[in-house]
Amino acid sequence: MSGPDANKIFTTLLKLEEPWFVENVEATSERVDVFVSTRAKALVACPVCGERYRIHDRVERTWRHSDMGEAECFITARVPRCDCPRCGVKQIPVPWAREFVGYTDYFERRAMKLIEKMPLTKAAEFMHVSPDVLLGILRYRVNKALDSMDLSSVTRIFLDETSSRRGHRYITVIADVDTKRIIFMTEGKGADSLGKFADWLYAHNGDPYNIRLVSCDFSKSFLAGINEHLPRADIVYDRFHLAKMANDALDKIRSRNQMNGSRHKWMRFKLMKNGKDLSDDDKRKIFDIKNDNSVLGLAYEMKESLIQLYDYPDISTASEHVKQWLSWVDDEGEPQMKAVGRTVSRHFHKILNWYHDKMSNGFLEGLNGMIQTTKRIGRGYPNTQNFMTMIFFRHGRLDI
Ligand SMILES: [Zn+2]
Repeated sequence: MSGPDANKIFTTLLKLEEPWFVENVEATSERVDVFVSTRAKALVACPVCGERYRIHDRVERTWRHSDMGEAECFITARVPRCDCPRCGVKQIPVPWAREFVGYTDYFERRAMKLIEKMPLTKAAEFMHVSPDVLLGILRYRVNKALDSMDLSSVTRIFLDETSSRRGHRYITVIADVDTKRIIFMTEGKGADSLGKFADWLYAHNGDPYNIRLVSCDFSKSFLAGINEHLPRADIVYDRFHLAKMANDALDKIRSRNQMNGSRHKWMRFKLMKNGKDLSDDDKRKIFDIKNDNSVLGLAYEMKESLIQLYDYPDISTASEHVKQWLSWVDDEGEPQMKAVGRTVSRHFHKILNWYHDKMSNGFLEGLNGMIQTTKRIGRGYPNTQNFMTMIFFRHGRLDI
């Protein structure tokens, strides 16, 4: 396809306006090349000061555009430069792409639509480019949206740490409890990360002094960081983090009291689940395990009972429950469960704080699930920055 008709069609398709026009089109079944230029006598505006000049010279550049059917499509243009006495020789912007990139806006928009619907590697296959190209586009869009993120109304946050890959670098994740979106991530954990979060708040219309509640795990370094950087915040230990601690203890007790055969893996998974979420069949099997192995059975009961503290109608009955639980564990618990008891006892008030400001535990658990899913899909992102970009994109509710 070539000739004046093809030029006209592509001028329309690319929505080109004077002085831009399609000069030539070359097409095979595998590749379409569209050659674009500007009228020789056109005046062009200096991109810095806006003053209009005659064209000084031209630079040839090529951009990848969306495929035409099976054929990959490229736009090649002789881009004018002006010679501005004040600003120097400057290349003028082109209407189909942002500065410094080799892809058209249309290509980028299409890529974003695909990444929304499918894993990045799949989207890259569709677009006939490497995943790195799409990651670059995604990173640009996410960072741009993050720049304009408004955190002025954030008062309650959920704080957690994860790792980009098993055993690799830690990442601190902070979510806004009220809008249910991830608002901050940084490499590292503990007090330093909280300091960075405070700076991030200032940079996005927010204020660390507005944060009145932080829901987090039991790590000492977070505690120090919160006291230092979020001075007005109360701490609450939520069901998600408490269950995690109790499950870790249960898992240690289980591995010391190994059961034989295939039930082993099954058990590990089921015992960690919230008892309320088990099917009747699973409940029966766990009942059998408790009969077979009294040490493990007792530890399981203790874990389940601890988490029930969030199910009471008010703080005084919950508080009574915790006290009874502590004395039970103190009498009969395995050393690992006794250690949980000591932590619970030390943070008694911060755990019961939950009753003053009942945050949705479901949200916290759901959020963690989403992060785990992204991590699983993200095995292909050895780069932590890319991993964080992906999490922000999926769970940041950004205006992209
Ligand atoms: Zn100028």
